[in-house]
Amino acid sequence: MMDHAPESAHFRRLEDHVFLAERGGPPPLNVGLILGEDAAVLIDPGPAGGDHTALLAAVRELSSAELIVVNTHGHPDHVGANDFLRRQGVHRILAHADAGVETATDLVAAEPVTLPLGGGVEVVLEHLGRGHTQGDLVVGVRAEGSTGVMFCGDLVREGDDPEFHDSYPKEWVRALGRLWSMAGSYSRFVPGHGHEVDADFIASMRRRMQQGYNVSSQAIRESVNDATKAIPIVPYGPGESRELITRLRGR
Ligand SMILES: [Zn+2]
Repeated sequence: MMDHAPESAHFRRLEDHVFLAERGGPPPLNVGLILGEDAAVLIDPGPAGGDHTALLAAVRELSSAELIVVNTHGHPDHVGANDFLRRQGVHRILAHADAGVETATDLVAAEPVTLPLGGGVEVVLEHLGRGHTQGDLVVGVRAEGSTGVMFCGDLVREGDDPEFHDSYPKEWVRALGRLWSMAGSYSRFVPGHGHEVDADFIASMRRRMQQGYNVSSQAIRESVNDATKAIPIVPYGPGESRELITRLRGR
Protein backbone atom coordinates (compact mmCIF):
# COMPACT_ATOMS: atom_id res chain seq x y z
CA MET A 1 0.00 0.00 0.00
CA MET A 2 1.18 3.48 -0.80
CA ASP A 3 0.85 6.36 1.66
CA HIS A 4 -1.01 8.46 -0.87
CA ALA A 5 -2.40 7.74 -4.28
CA PRO A 6 -0.49 9.40 -7.12
CA GLU A 7 -2.42 12.07 -9.03
CA SER A 8 -4.28 10.39 -11.83
CA ALA A 9 -4.27 12.11 -15.17
CA HIS A 10 -7.01 11.18 -17.54
CA PHE A 11 -7.71 12.79 -20.89
CA ARG A 12 -11.24 12.39 -22.16
CA ARG A 13 -12.00 12.81 -25.84
CA LEU A 14 -13.99 15.91 -26.87
CA GLU A 15 -13.58 15.29 -30.60
CA ASP A 16 -11.42 13.12 -32.86
CA HIS A 17 -8.22 15.07 -32.21
CA VAL A 18 -9.15 17.01 -29.08
CA PHE A 19 -8.81 15.84 -25.48
CA LEU A 20 -9.38 17.40 -22.08
CA ALA A 21 -8.03 16.60 -18.60
CA GLU A 22 -8.63 18.28 -15.25
CA ARG A 23 -5.76 19.05 -12.88
CA GLY A 24 -5.42 20.34 -9.33
CA GLY A 25 -7.92 22.72 -7.83
CA PRO A 26 -10.41 23.33 -6.56
CA PRO A 27 -11.46 24.57 -8.96
CA PRO A 28 -9.65 22.19 -11.31
CA LEU A 29 -7.79 23.53 -14.31
CA ASN A 30 -8.78 22.43 -17.80
CA VAL A 31 -5.77 21.02 -19.66
CA GLY A 32 -6.22 20.61 -23.41
CA LEU A 33 -4.44 18.16 -25.70
CA ILE A 34 -4.61 18.36 -29.49
CA LEU A 35 -3.20 15.51 -31.56
CA GLY A 36 -1.90 15.72 -35.11
CA GLU A 37 0.16 13.19 -37.03
CA ASP A 38 3.44 15.07 -36.62
CA ALA A 39 2.97 17.06 -33.44
CA ALA A 40 0.77 17.40 -30.37
CA VAL A 41 -0.15 20.56 -28.48
CA LEU A 42 -0.64 20.59 -24.70
CA ILE A 43 -2.57 23.65 -23.50
CA ASP A 44 -1.86 24.94 -19.96
CA PRO A 45 -0.08 21.96 -18.38
CA GLY A 46 -0.89 23.11 -14.84
CA PRO A 47 0.61 24.36 -11.57
CA ALA A 48 4.16 23.70 -10.37
CA GLY A 49 3.08 21.19 -7.72
CA GLY A 50 1.54 17.85 -8.60
CA ASP A 51 2.46 14.68 -10.38
CA HIS A 52 3.65 15.82 -13.79
CA THR A 53 5.01 12.35 -14.54
CA ALA A 54 1.44 11.05 -14.57
CA LEU A 55 0.36 13.89 -16.86
CA LEU A 56 3.18 13.24 -19.31
CA ALA A 57 2.49 9.50 -19.23
CA ALA A 58 -1.17 10.17 -20.04
CA VAL A 59 -0.09 12.32 -23.01
CA ARG A 60 2.35 9.66 -24.19
CA GLU A 61 -0.35 6.99 -24.01
CA LEU A 62 -2.21 8.94 -26.70
CA SER A 63 0.67 10.23 -28.83
CA SER A 64 4.41 9.89 -29.30
CA ALA A 65 4.57 12.91 -31.64
CA GLU A 66 6.63 16.01 -30.86
CA LEU A 67 5.01 17.81 -27.92
CA ILE A 68 4.47 21.58 -28.02
CA VAL A 69 3.19 23.47 -24.99
CA VAL A 70 0.90 26.51 -25.29
CA ASN A 71 0.04 28.79 -22.36
CA THR A 72 -3.18 30.83 -22.51
CA HIS A 73 -1.67 33.36 -20.04
CA GLY A 74 0.95 33.64 -17.35
CA HIS A 75 -0.88 32.72 -14.13
CA PRO A 76 1.04 30.10 -12.12
CA ASP A 77 -1.82 27.58 -12.00
CA HIS A 78 -1.57 27.39 -15.81
CA VAL A 79 2.20 27.58 -16.45
CA GLY A 80 3.92 26.14 -13.35
CA ALA A 81 4.43 22.72 -14.96
CA ASN A 82 6.35 24.21 -17.93
CA ASP A 83 9.65 23.79 -16.13
CA PHE A 84 9.20 20.06 -15.63
CA LEU A 85 8.18 19.57 -19.26
CA ARG A 86 11.23 21.45 -20.52
CA ARG A 87 13.44 19.18 -18.46
CA GLN A 88 11.62 16.23 -20.04
CA GLY A 89 12.61 17.37 -23.52
CA VAL A 90 9.76 19.68 -24.57
CA HIS A 91 11.60 22.39 -26.46
CA ARG A 92 8.78 24.59 -27.72
CA ILE A 93 6.61 26.54 -25.29
CA LEU A 94 4.46 29.34 -26.75
CA ALA A 95 2.92 32.22 -24.81
CA HIS A 96 1.98 35.82 -25.45
CA ALA A 97 4.89 38.27 -25.35
CA ASP A 98 3.28 40.20 -22.47
CA ALA A 99 2.28 37.15 -20.43
CA GLY A 100 5.53 37.12 -18.45
CA VAL A 101 6.11 33.40 -18.98
CA GLU A 102 9.85 32.99 -18.38
CA THR A 103 9.89 29.41 -19.61
CA ALA A 104 8.38 30.34 -23.00
CA THR A 105 10.58 29.75 -26.05
CA ASP A 106 8.29 31.32 -28.70
CA LEU A 107 6.45 34.57 -28.09
CA VAL A 108 3.19 35.47 -29.80
CA ALA A 109 2.28 39.14 -30.30
CA ALA A 110 -0.43 40.85 -32.39
CA GLU A 111 -0.27 38.44 -35.35
CA PRO A 112 -2.07 35.10 -34.92
CA VAL A 113 0.20 32.06 -35.08
CA THR A 114 -0.89 28.86 -36.81
CA LEU A 115 0.66 25.53 -35.85
CA PRO A 116 0.05 22.79 -38.43
CA LEU A 117 0.15 19.51 -36.51
CA GLY A 118 -0.09 17.18 -39.49
CA GLY A 119 -2.99 15.09 -40.76
CA GLY A 120 -5.08 18.21 -41.44
CA VAL A 121 -5.13 19.33 -37.80
CA GLU A 122 -4.31 22.97 -37.12
CA VAL A 123 -4.05 25.04 -33.97
CA VAL A 124 -4.41 28.83 -34.15
CA LEU A 125 -3.12 31.07 -31.34
CA GLU A 126 -4.65 34.52 -31.18
CA HIS A 127 -4.48 37.54 -28.88
CA LEU A 128 -7.88 39.27 -28.72
CA GLY A 129 -6.54 42.29 -26.84
CA ARG A 130 -5.93 42.66 -23.13
CA GLY A 131 -8.52 41.09 -20.86
CA HIS A 132 -8.10 38.69 -17.95
CA THR A 133 -4.42 39.68 -18.09
CA GLN A 134 -2.29 41.77 -20.43
CA GLY A 135 -1.16 38.68 -22.34
CA ASP A 136 -4.06 36.30 -22.99
CA LEU A 137 -4.19 33.91 -25.93
CA VAL A 138 -7.13 31.90 -27.20
CA VAL A 139 -6.30 28.61 -28.87
CA GLY A 140 -8.55 27.39 -31.67
CA VAL A 141 -8.51 23.88 -33.10
CA ARG A 142 -9.46 23.24 -36.71
CA ALA A 143 -9.61 19.81 -38.30
CA GLU A 144 -11.55 17.94 -40.94
CA GLY A 145 -15.01 17.10 -39.61
CA SER A 146 -14.54 19.23 -36.48
CA THR A 147 -17.11 21.83 -35.44
CA GLY A 148 -14.23 23.85 -34.03
CA VAL A 149 -13.06 23.83 -30.42
CA MET A 150 -11.76 27.01 -28.79
CA PHE A 151 -9.67 26.94 -25.62
CA CYS A 152 -10.31 30.31 -23.97
CA GLY A 153 -8.07 30.28 -20.88
CA ASP A 154 -9.41 32.47 -18.08
CA LEU A 155 -10.94 34.97 -20.51
CA VAL A 156 -13.97 32.73 -20.00
CA ARG A 157 -14.98 31.45 -16.59
CA GLU A 158 -17.76 28.96 -15.97
CA GLY A 159 -19.18 28.21 -12.52
CA ASP A 160 -17.62 31.20 -10.78
CA ASP A 161 -16.97 34.92 -11.23
CA PRO A 162 -14.24 36.02 -13.64
CA GLU A 163 -10.98 37.03 -11.89
CA PHE A 164 -10.23 40.72 -12.14
CA HIS A 165 -7.11 41.20 -9.99
CA ASP A 166 -4.70 41.93 -12.86
CA SER A 167 -7.31 42.39 -15.57
CA TYR A 168 -8.22 45.15 -18.03
CA PRO A 169 -12.03 45.15 -17.61
CA LYS A 170 -12.99 47.51 -20.44
CA GLU A 171 -10.78 45.68 -22.94
CA TRP A 172 -11.94 42.34 -21.56
CA VAL A 173 -15.54 43.21 -22.56
CA ARG A 174 -14.27 43.95 -26.08
CA ALA A 175 -12.24 40.70 -26.19
CA LEU A 176 -15.36 38.72 -25.25
CA GLY A 177 -17.20 40.42 -28.11
CA ARG A 178 -14.45 39.34 -30.50
CA LEU A 179 -14.54 35.82 -29.11
CA TRP A 180 -18.31 35.65 -29.53
CA SER A 181 -17.98 36.82 -33.13
CA MET A 182 -15.79 33.77 -33.83
CA ALA A 183 -18.75 31.50 -33.15
CA GLY A 184 -19.19 30.96 -36.89
CA SER A 185 -15.89 29.05 -36.93
CA TYR A 186 -16.01 27.54 -33.44
CA SER A 187 -19.00 25.98 -31.72
CA ARG A 188 -17.39 24.67 -28.53
CA PHE A 189 -15.64 26.89 -26.01
CA VAL A 190 -13.53 25.46 -23.18
CA PRO A 191 -12.87 27.86 -20.27
CA GLY A 192 -9.71 27.75 -18.15
CA HIS A 193 -11.82 26.47 -15.26
CA GLY A 194 -15.35 25.06 -15.34
CA HIS A 195 -17.48 23.26 -17.89
CA GLU A 196 -17.47 23.69 -21.65
CA VAL A 197 -19.78 26.51 -22.82
CA ASP A 198 -21.39 27.76 -26.02
CA ALA A 199 -21.52 31.13 -27.80
CA ASP A 200 -24.65 32.21 -25.87
CA PHE A 201 -22.72 31.84 -22.62
CA ILE A 202 -19.95 34.07 -23.99
CA ALA A 203 -22.57 36.67 -24.99
CA SER A 204 -24.15 36.69 -21.53
CA MET A 205 -20.75 36.82 -19.82
CA ARG A 206 -19.93 39.84 -22.00
CA ARG A 207 -23.25 41.56 -21.15
CA ARG A 208 -22.75 41.02 -17.45
CA MET A 209 -19.18 42.33 -17.56
CA GLN A 210 -20.31 45.39 -19.54
CA GLN A 211 -22.93 46.02 -16.85
CA GLY A 212 -20.30 45.54 -14.12
CA TYR A 213 -18.00 47.95 -15.92
CA ASN A 214 -20.79 50.54 -16.32
CA VAL A 215 -21.99 50.56 -12.71
CA SER A 216 -18.43 50.50 -11.33
CA SER A 217 -17.29 53.36 -13.57
CA GLN A 218 -20.32 55.41 -12.63
CA ALA A 219 -19.74 54.79 -8.91
CA ILE A 220 -16.11 55.85 -9.29
CA ARG A 221 -17.15 59.06 -11.07
CA GLU A 222 -19.76 59.87 -8.45
CA SER A 223 -17.85 59.06 -5.29
CA VAL A 224 -14.15 58.71 -5.90
CA ASN A 225 -13.37 58.18 -2.23
CA ASP A 226 -15.77 55.38 -1.58
CA ALA A 227 -16.69 53.67 -4.81
CA THR A 228 -16.87 50.40 -2.87
CA LYS A 229 -20.43 51.47 -1.95
CA ALA A 230 -21.25 50.19 -5.43
CA ILE A 231 -20.25 46.61 -4.54
CA PRO A 232 -23.87 45.48 -3.92
CA ILE A 233 -24.94 46.58 -7.42
CA VAL A 234 -21.97 45.12 -9.32
CA PRO A 235 -23.22 41.81 -10.78
CA TYR A 236 -20.53 39.65 -9.09
CA GLY A 237 -19.81 38.39 -5.58
CA PRO A 238 -18.35 40.93 -3.11
CA GLY A 239 -14.72 39.77 -3.61
CA GLU A 240 -14.60 40.09 -7.38
CA SER A 241 -16.81 43.23 -7.34
CA ARG A 242 -14.21 44.87 -5.10
CA GLU A 243 -11.38 43.69 -7.41
CA LEU A 244 -13.20 45.10 -10.44
CA ILE A 245 -13.68 48.51 -8.78
CA THR A 246 -10.07 48.55 -7.53
CA ARG A 247 -8.82 47.70 -11.00
CA LEU A 248 -10.88 50.48 -12.62
CA ARG A 249 -10.06 53.07 -9.98
CA GLY A 250 -6.35 52.45 -10.20
CA ARG A 251 -6.26 53.41 -13.87
ZN1 LIG B 1 -5.80 33.26 -14.75
